[in-house]
Amino acid sequence: KPAVTKNFIELAIDKDLAEGKYTEICTRFPPEPNGYLHIGHAKSILLNYGLAKKYNGKFHLRFDDTNPTKEKTEFVQSIIADVEWLGAAYDGEVRFASNYFDQMYEAAVKLIKKGKAYVCDLTADQIREYRGTLKEPGKNSPYRDRSVEENLQLFEEMKEGKYPDGSRVLRAKIDMSSPNINMRDPILYRVARMTHHNTGDKWCIYPMYDFAHPIEDAIEGISHSICTLEFEDHRPLYDWVVRELEYPMPPRQIEFAKLYLTNVVTGKRYIKKLVDQGIVDGWDDPRLVTIAALRRRGYTPESIKMFMEMVGVSKSNSSVDYAMLDYCIREDLKMKRSRMMAVLHPLKLVIDNYPEGQIEYLDVPNNQENEALGTRKVPFGRELYIEQDDFMEVPPKKYFRLYPGNEVRLMSAYFVTCTDVVKDEAGNVVEVHCTYDPETKSGSGFTGRKVKGTIHWVAKETAVKAEVRLYENLVDESKGSVYNEDGSVNINPNSLTVLKDCCLEPNFEGAVGGDSYQFVRNGFFCIDSKDSKPDALVFNRIVSLKSSFKL
Ligand code: ATP
Ligand code: MG
Ligand code: MG
Repeated sequence: KPAVTKNFIELAIDKDLAEGKYTEICTRFPPEPNGYLHIGHAKSILLNYGLAKKYNGKFHLRFDDTNPTKEKTEFVQSIIADVEWLGAAYDGEVRFASNYFDQMYEAAVKLIKKGKAYVCDLTADQIREYRGTLKEPGKNSPYRDRSVEENLQLFEEMKEGKYPDGSRVLRAKIDMSSPNINMRDPILYRVARMTHHNTGDKWCIYPMYDFAHPIEDAIEGISHSICTLEFEDHRPLYDWVVRELEYPMPPRQIEFAKLYLTNVVTGKRYIKKLVDQGIVDGWDDPRLVTIAALRRRGYTPESIKMFMEMVGVSKSNSSVDYAMLDYCIREDLKMKRSRMMAVLHPLKLVIDNYPEGQIEYLDVPNNQENEALGTRKVPFGRELYIEQDDFMEVPPKKYFRLYPGNEVRLMSAYFVTCTDVVKDEAGNVVEVHCTYDPETKSGSGFTGRKVKGTIHWVAKETAVKAEVRLYENLVDESKGSVYNEDGSVNINPNSLTVLKDCCLEPNFEGAVGGDSYQFVRNGFFCIDSKDSKPDALVFNRIVSLKSSFKL
């Protein structure tokens, strides 16, 4: 359901437009290419893209690749794929902050010339010490009053590689007694010999995030630079940078709260650890909430959009129940997907009075609630599989499924009455026998009597075997977070259940990875795009049909 009221970011944009501060809206998503994107990033992507669309503006995808140590080209490719899959159409080419290194250098020179930046020779430890604390003002660096000429020369020499890593930095000259520690002469540039994935060894000085980011935004004509709350204290510095550099239409930073989900692992750092420790099957393990994992599990971009609209945008941190995401995918797939017959825990059912060797093809609607999806033929025969759960030799009260003497409806087929069972040596029921009543065929208009239970089935002769993977949340809910303080993990022991002998109706020819279906009574399932093969299908359960979550 779309929100009727505007969120605080939209209200701020409305005001800026009304006051003429901006004439066009431009937003951006600025990932660091140091990992796969997760559901939290999806929020930022859809928020920024959504605002651009709403205001007829533009949306940029820009890699914030100013810190070469952790960046990898592999991540660039996966991030582009994820943004495109979410449907966030970015304007023009993919952008890279590293393409602006020359302009950033020029910007630093401009600040030096204005007397707003200086080269400082203090060590990292001394800089920290001089910076002071929240309670105590900092002290000026002894290098603070170097002349413009000296600063220009030293900075150029830093760039030319005259000084070892870490020996000198360029700092903004702001206020060492500011109550905001970020304003106490922050570092703008450092010397670091690192090979960059884009610029190679061209640079041995690299800009700091707080200096680079506002410049990137200003160069691209970003109007609203939307980021998460931890950057609120950096906003005065952001504003200082764009003001001192005298950009004609300086971008405005607005912060919102990060999305946190219960019982899943968000945060690149923790996901990486699970991947590196082999606890999960790669970055796209369907139990993770990376975008790649959600896609592999069978979530749709539409369901993720619906989820973000329900969650909304807020100024205070809170956690959202994972069950809400489940709700959204159910809502999205309910009317769109065919409802197939699949037996996950097969038990053989024999209809003794049905002709041996006969197969009849029943017309079954693909989705009872959506006629547009048409019908299909489902084979029916003398021997079927039903769910083990749908038979009990000694039923409890209110059990309306199959038990000796009871009659049930086989979904879209006939009524059957249980007559007998066959047991193995250990006393387990391995075969259930029944008789059917030809008069009761589904669609025949039979009204003679009613039964309370309806169960699904798959004809044995034409059944397709498949592997089905069931998932629960990765984190053991009773223990809270996934990592204990000592680094040990709390993994839900039931986070993955693999069922190897599931029996499906034979209507999956041509199905490919990513295709999804409802399996009647069992949930929504998606063909695994990594492990499934045409002759050995593997399905992921996206979500069961029942929900604990209520709107
Ligand atoms: P992580 O903490 O998971 O490593 P990050 O913030 O370091 O994430 P970036 O690549 O820097 O990852 O993030 C790109 C954008 O995504 C930033 O604007 C960031 O604020 C936003 N973002 C990251 N995590 C979330 C989240 N949980 N909810 C909303 N936005 C997020
Ligand atoms: Mg970051
Ligand atoms: Mg990070």
